[in-house]
Amino acid sequence: MRFFDNHTHTNFSPDSPVTIKEAVEAALARNLAGVALTDHYDIDPALGEMEFNFNPDVQQAEIDKISFEYGLGSKERDLQLLKGIEVGLMPGKFMQTIKEFTGKYHFDTVIASLHTIDGTDPYRRTYYKGRDAWQAYSNALELMYNLCVEFKDFDILGHYDYVARYSPYSEQERDITYKRYGDYIDAIFKYLVENGKTFEINTKTYTNHAGYIPKLDLDILKRFKELGGEALSIGSDTHGRDRFGDNFELYSQIIKECGFKYLVYYKNRKPNYYTIK
Ligand SMILES: [Zn+2]
Ligand SMILES: [Zn+2]
Repeated sequence: MRFFDNHTHTNFSPDSPVTIKEAVEAALARNLAGVALTDHYDIDPALGEMEFNFNPDVQQAEIDKISFEYGLGSKERDLQLLKGIEVGLMPGKFMQTIKEFTGKYHFDTVIASLHTIDGTDPYRRTYYKGRDAWQAYSNALELMYNLCVEFKDFDILGHYDYVARYSPYSEQERDITYKRYGDYIDAIFKYLVENGKTFEINTKTYTNHAGYIPKLDLDILKRFKELGGEALSIGSDTHGRDRFGDNFELYSQIIKECGFKYLVYYKNRKPNYYTIK
């Protein structure tokens, strides 16, 4: 089947070298139905040297230009290039800036992601110092819920399990499970369902991070369905040419086995559902 990859990065993100042209070539080669270019907007001062900020006007003009050049949307090149952003959720005084920035531009799809927790990014590993798994994960999930409620202006909650990617805990404790974190997960899911938003299966989480491949707990997916979630978003979170649509066949089947009939992509901030085959 043909998928929409709702979460990808181009060189408008400082941590990706992929040009929009290369993204189009990769998406066509993978026979994707659509790709949302969701570059980073993270105004975390703790990030220091790298500014995770881009000008959507420039990025979107480039998307229009390349869509035209390639004749995208035609029968021969049936690919939709969607205008997106991955907004890094930030507390306190930054929240207002984030809201204003997101509201200022037109996007097809807005992902809200938690990258910064207590002034640091788990990617840098210092977040886990002095915290056991329960403290590290419950703190992250609680903050994610609070910031989602405060931000509101998004379609997809990005990689809820980001905090498990880089964590140092034993195999028994390392994955986020419904059994252990269900109270936090329920609060997030109820908010998403009641507000017409979805959450994302981010296939980058389930790749090798320093020798460990985090696992997706199927009880989490089943619970989203139980609470009224109709469709999930799937994204590769690729930062290179090689991972567009990565592992979507596998994870769409897992999603289907958990009771879902549909995946979703957003255009003009509206959900479009398509059937999992
Ligand atoms: Zn992210
Ligand atoms: Zn991302």
